[in-house]
Amino acid sequence: MAKRKKPNRRLFEFSKKDVARRIQRLPPQEVEHDSLQISRELLDRTLGGLRERSGGWRESGAIWIGDLKDSESRVRDVLLFHDLCDDKGRSLSLELSEEAKFALYKELAKRGQKLVGMIHTHPEDWVDLSGIDKANQLCSRIGFWSLVLPYYGERGWAIESIGVHIRVDSGWHWFSKEESLKRIIVK
Ligand SMILES: [Zn+2]
Repeated sequence: MAKRKKPNRRLFEFSKKDVARRIQRLPPQEVEHDSLQISRELLDRTLGGLRERSGGWRESGAIWIGDLKDSESRVRDVLLFHDLCDDKGRSLSLELSEEAKFALYKELAKRGQKLVGMIHTHPEDWVDLSGIDKANQLCSRIGFWSLVLPYYGERGWAIESIGVHIRVDSGWHWFSKEESLKRIIVK
């Protein structure tokens, strides 16, 4: 769900100062203590599924569902977009059909679980949320996570290269690398 026509390095359009300022920005109070917990097994299943589906050329996505307790989100299961519907994955785009969303909400109600977050791949190192990513809302709850995995997931899990975003009252907050390390807990 990158909005660019070509995979040019969007980051370089900003000055270094702008980027530094953005990265240093503090999280808003409403998500100050939020964290996301995922087991190694579920994380591996997520990364494997995304990498395989992306196949080095197209975007892929996954949804994390589970429990929410205060400001702690705990992942209990992963659902891949392409298992839910034809995700129409292309080099810079991805979809989750309305039917798939509807089926997902029904499944969540049945399981008594909640939407925790989602993760999708981008072609290169640009891991901000595109305008389309921001508009394509699966969930508008404050505290909903949205992670962006670079290089179509081919380089595995390295938190410093992953875009870690969280839904806030005023839109989306992009966590710094240091914050991401503290907030995404793999165990
Ligand atoms: Zn995207």
